Amino acid sequence: MRRVFAGVAASKGLALGRARVREPHRLDVEERMVGEGEIDAERQLLHEALQAARRELNDMRDRVRGAIAHEVGEFLDLHAMLLDDPDLESGLDELIRTGHYSAGYALRLQRDRLVSAFDGIDDAYLRSRREDIDHVIQRVYAALHREPLPQVIGLAGEVLICEHIAPTDLAHLHEEGVVAIVTAQGSTLSHSAILARSLHLPLLIGAHEALLHINDGDALIVDTLSGHVIVEPDADDLRSFRDAEAGTRREKRALERLRKAPTRTKDGTEVRLWANAESRDDVAQAFSLGAAGVGLYRTEFLFLQRRELPTEEEQFLAYRDLVLGMNGRPVTIRTLDLGADKSDSTGLAIADEPNPALGLRGIRLCLAHPDVFADQLRAILRASAYGPVRILIPMVSHADELRACRKLIKRYTDELRKAGHELGEPPDVGAMIEVPAAALALDTLLPHIDFCSVGTNDLVQYMLAADRGNDALGPLATARHPAVVRVLGEIFRTCGEAGKSVAVCGEMASNPEHAELLLGLGLRDFSMHPSSMLEVRKAVREAALS
Ligand code: PEP
Ligand code: MG
Repeated sequence: MRRVFAGVAASKGLALGRARVREPHRLDVEERMVGEGEIDAERQLLHEALQAARRELNDMRDRVRGAIAHEVGEFLDLHAMLLDDPDLESGLDELIRTGHYSAGYALRLQRDRLVSAFDGIDDAYLRSRREDIDHVIQRVYAALHREPLPQVIGLAGEVLICEHIAPTDLAHLHEEGVVAIVTAQGSTLSHSAILARSLHLPLLIGAHEALLHINDGDALIVDTLSGHVIVEPDADDLRSFRDAEAGTRREKRALERLRKAPTRTKDGTEVRLWANAESRDDVAQAFSLGAAGVGLYRTEFLFLQRRELPTEEEQFLAYRDLVLGMNGRPVTIRTLDLGADKSDSTGLAIADEPNPALGLRGIRLCLAHPDVFADQLRAILRASAYGPVRILIPMVSHADELRACRKLIKRYTDELRKAGHELGEPPDVGAMIEVPAAALALDTLLPHIDFCSVGTNDLVQYMLAADRGNDALGPLATARHPAVVRVLGEIFRTCGEAGKSVAVCGEMASNPEHAELLLGLGLRDFSMHPSSMLEVRKAVREAALS
């Protein structure tokens, strides 16, 4: 019988396939206590299971290659880090020793404790890390019972229906030819969602009803563009699907033809497309699509998912690779923007600020940690020896912050030169315009900077008092609000009059529907993930300014 279930798009796309339902994974372990004499044996079993799980992760790390190696490698590293956490093993050991629980039951208890701690965290990104805990514990549990880890048997042409999906499963499923995934849980901020988007694998999350009612073998249409999964589609559904699919294919082919085309409006205005790029693949793609340069490199990704701060040397190597990857085109390295929705595990960002989006984030955090900022600035300056670099300061609200940054950049430049380091041209210094105060008092900031980049994600959040991580606000948080549009127009005009270049690097710039509006307001520099570049180029080429 035809039925339609709703969900939320975590990775956009269309798919038609057979359902493969994976039973929701639960660690349904019987409560088993062990006698005093068995305790050591249980502890040993647990220790061996942890070792086996570590070995499995290492083997997988060695095996992943190709385009997905970078992303999958990051998830595997995170899982290895969770597994290596000494608190995990000592907590389990303690449960067995003092509670006399079996190793399996201790695992289940520890998992429940960790997950409930995550549930209480008021941070969508961190909350979504509970999935990682689940996957790690599941791996140890499987090792404990000497069973192979329940592999997701994904076959070509199938749609996987499951409670939630691990990033490592995703990579494997993609290789197997699974055409879409529908989950009951998950978040658009989860690692799985990020990976699904870069693999172009449609992922519909939050489809609780679908999980309850879909059976193995049902024919399904997954349409994450409209946020639906249709069970046993009828002839009309199939026709609409075929039409939509043909339309998508045509669009893709037409877009591919624009790879080498200039980004110019119908009436000849030149526009520059820059890339928001973090991974090596992003950089390579950006270069081949003719990006003017990297418009935004979010350095906080070097700090997330780890317990220790990256050293100056480590950062230098990452920035140098980025600069080399763009082969002479400028790269804009944004200084650390931790805090608010981007919390780390290094203890740098304050985890329990009462109002983190309005707290010690971005440049405020960096100026409060001069040693951390010094390592980063020195690393960026050293990378400038390999090609043109620009430094972008996030969350600026006062001119004093920019004065302080300028002073530090000068100081480290002098120190590095004195120490015999080769440095390139002095980097241009710019400010993210994402706090309303910075936008409205832009004239007070411009004397201290060479360029600016508008962070519409935060600007919209702060102007409209609409939390960017709260899906429930939906269309309220729109960059097309008249207040935002007015402020954007003002920013572009003020920069134009002062002869300072301005880009938009928030998501607004990657949406082709906004291209004409932004062009009309005076924007000529757009920065976006490379996957959006051809669509925006197309929109620019179809726009006319006069
Ligand atoms: C923004 O706020 O628009 C932006 C580009 O920065 P982030 O999304 O990293 O906060
Ligand atoms: Mg921002």
